[in-house]
Amino acid sequence: MTIDRYTCAEVFARLDDYLDRELDPAEVELVRQHLETCEKCSSEYRFEAGVRENLKTKLRRIEVPASLTAQVRAALADPGATDSE
Ligand SMILES: [Zn+2]
Repeated sequence: MTIDRYTCAEVFARLDDYLDRELDPAEVELVRQHLETCEKCSSEYRFEAGVRENLKTKLRRIEVPASLTAQVRAALADPGATDSE
């Protein structure tokens, strides 16, 4: 049994699936091994992982204004609730 090492192109092609954990365990292992030995791919992996983290954070932030919008609408519908004259 020979375990072929992935080339950089093969790792790049699987990076999304690797991050999404949609690879076979054998593929995950091959990608992981390549990332450990290849600085170029591991920095690309860190970049992609960082982008995903940012995206998740942004998506979480978007959920907050949704309820804020409701509060603002409620305040606009009833100005007396916020204005103290
Ligand atoms: Zn590489």
